[in-house]
Amino acid sequence: MLRSPPPDAPESPSVPQASILRLALPSPLRRLFDYLPPRGVDAQRLPLGVRLRVPFGRREIVGVLVEHAETSEVPEGKLRPALEVLDREPPLPPHLLELCRWTSQYYQHSFGDTLSWALPNLLRQGEPAEARVQRFWLAAPGAKLDDPRLTRAPRQRQALQTLQQHPHGVLHELLGQLGINKDSLDLLVEKGLASQESRHHAPVEHHGGWLAQAELPLNAEQRAACEAVRAGFGSFHSYLLAGVTGSGKTEVYLQLIRETLEAGKQALVLIPEINLGPQTLSRFERRFNARIALLHSALTDRERLDAWLAARDGDADIVIGTRSALFTPLKNPGLIIIDEEHDASYKQQEGLRYHARDLALVRARMERTPILLGSATPSLESLHNAASGRYGLLRLTQRAGGAQAPKFQRLDVKSLPLDAGLSMPLQRAIGETLGAGQQVLVYLNRRGFAPTLLCHDCGWISKCPRCDARMTLHQGSGELRCHHCDHRERPPRKCPDCGKLDLRPVGAGTERAEERLRILFPNYPVLRIDRDSTSRKHAMRDLFATINKGEPCILVGTQMLAKGHHFPRVTLVAILDADGGLFSADFRASERMAQQIVQVAGRAGRAEEPGRVLIQTHLAEHPLLVQLTEQGYFAFAEQALSERRAAGLPPFCHMALLRAEAHKPGQAEGFLDEACAEAEHLQAQLGSDVELLGPVPAPMERRAGRFRAQLLLMSTARAPLHRLLTPWLQVLEGMPSGRQVRWSLDVDPIDLF
Ligand code: ADP
Ligand code: ZN
Ligand code: ZN
Repeated sequence: MLRSPPPDAPESPSVPQASILRLALPSPLRRLFDYLPPRGVDAQRLPLGVRLRVPFGRREIVGVLVEHAETSEVPEGKLRPALEVLDREPPLPPHLLELCRWTSQYYQHSFGDTLSWALPNLLRQGEPAEARVQRFWLAAPGAKLDDPRLTRAPRQRQALQTLQQHPHGVLHELLGQLGINKDSLDLLVEKGLASQESRHHAPVEHHGGWLAQAELPLNAEQRAACEAVRAGFGSFHSYLLAGVTGSGKTEVYLQLIRETLEAGKQALVLIPEINLGPQTLSRFERRFNARIALLHSALTDRERLDAWLAARDGDADIVIGTRSALFTPLKNPGLIIIDEEHDASYKQQEGLRYHARDLALVRARMERTPILLGSATPSLESLHNAASGRYGLLRLTQRAGGAQAPKFQRLDVKSLPLDAGLSMPLQRAIGETLGAGQQVLVYLNRRGFAPTLLCHDCGWISKCPRCDARMTLHQGSGELRCHHCDHRERPPRKCPDCGKLDLRPVGAGTERAEERLRILFPNYPVLRIDRDSTSRKHAMRDLFATINKGEPCILVGTQMLAKGHHFPRVTLVAILDADGGLFSADFRASERMAQQIVQVAGRAGRAEEPGRVLIQTHLAEHPLLVQLTEQGYFAFAEQALSERRAAGLPPFCHMALLRAEAHKPGQAEGFLDEACAEAEHLQAQLGSDVELLGPVPAPMERRAGRFRAQLLLMSTARAPLHRLLTPWLQVLEGMPSGRQVRWSLDVDPIDLF
């Protein structure tokens, strides 16, 4: 994809040797752009990786120097000089630049745009790549918690205690997360018990050790896992830590991180979007005397750049972040951890469609560090890699701390009436659990009141005007909403087709289950946890406070309930509908369903009382469901993998999906038809036999007013697929029909929609 000059291009006499700069620019075009150096600058002295400000059309943009060249295809008089060199040193270390190049080639994405995804916003805009001065709060050296002036000031005392746990000081921006308010600090400063300092990051300083809190003694399986990874320190090794929920994976991470810090290195920890709660972070904060840099999507541009620079300059010891934190440079990389490696949020679904877990492996290899993937429900890809010996498999089969694993039970609802999704046997089980003073978790991965509004008279249903999808009735907000394009409207009072008044909600979402459960169990609180109920600030915190009181109650929620949280008093988990995952046309649906069931189940019975999981289904004898509930996730995965092998599906084949969408029907298919013909033509030249499936309309043909179609490429080996993709994308980029549609290529797609 990187353009090199034609071999026989004449050397332009007026342009001296290697004086052309080849830049990656933030453009979707898969090519580099040539410039002359700024006036008075010697091109050959500019190191690769520095940023330059350049004219681009009528705008000025920031690009990255990635090659020196002697000649250019651009006619001599048309080459423009860059305006300004922005860096003395490249802001990205060589390994990271290399990782970005690899990423752009593998995902067939423009190098310049790949860099845009990888670099903090402010660097893309030309901000200096240097740390700025920041504000820190510190406990005064002699300050005592039993100071008489604090006896009647519990908040100040609390604040002082937290400061004392952070001998490097607490960054002003992190006060909120640690639950300290500024007023308490001001009062402590007045009393001479705390002080404020401004400096570059936290200084490296001698302290009593990396641990702020004692480590738990590991059980035998945890110790074996730690020892295996430790043996791989200092070189590239990959491990899959498959540990049931509550088995103490996080404790393994923490102890390995401590060893990484002791070796003078940094640890990079990726977590899924949804785990980015205060619970996860405070575990790291509490454990270590270490500088932790946090990278996630809610940061301001400035905060992001600061954290990024701290990581790059070795001023952060531990870097924790979501997907894009994978691209954070580290001065002394020592260990990469990917928590919940099966989580779909690691795959970016727009622009640069990369998978952070897969790229983390590439990165670990480049930087020669060990990498640990952890999950209670590993992806089939990772299990396959473990089975074939590419990853070391480390298993934690027991819950740590003595809690028992939950028991699964399939509840056949084939001929049972469902009341807002709840069968009679399930209602009875809920009543018994509440009566015993315990909590119940009801899982239903569907927001809103009802997935459809139906006219009982003529059969009209509430369809989205812009998508091939039904609109969900949300009673709380009194709206019909499309979950695909977010179109919203008031529900009609009477049927738009026949005018009758008999409109009825069909099916059940979380709102409806909540409403029904309140009526069925009026003496117990019913708490709904989904995107709608938790959008208010602190809503989530308030809900958890209620749950943690431990009194009997019912939690109803979507997959927000399935991750990361501990609900020790929940002893009954009810899965209202497992069938979606068994019926779906998407070959990954059953894997996702199994992961969700096991993850939700893992929330239950963490403490003394064992948990019970009831799964409502119409397919009680489905082999995958039987395996899952009777033998566990690994048996399920083995069965699912053998089905994938038989069907020639990933991980036993490699896919790329070309998607297109357009305002007029037929336009997207037209483009894909041409694209398909070009691929066949190239295949004939290359002698390759990548399978081309389609073009076909997308499973949801119309979305947000556009008509969508797709072409699927499949190959048993990766190499021939990529040999085809590279030249093919060059051709597609030049096709006039491509300008009338929106198209994108998804390498290793995780859904085919
Ligand atoms: P996971 O990450 O696998 O879900 P956690 O690390 O959160 O599991 O551990 C679950 C619970 O078990 C936590 O409360 C943790 O403190 C406890 N735990 C972990 N390891 C041990 C151990 N070796 N001994 C006692 N308790 C442990
Ligand atoms: Zn009607
Ligand atoms: Zn819609």
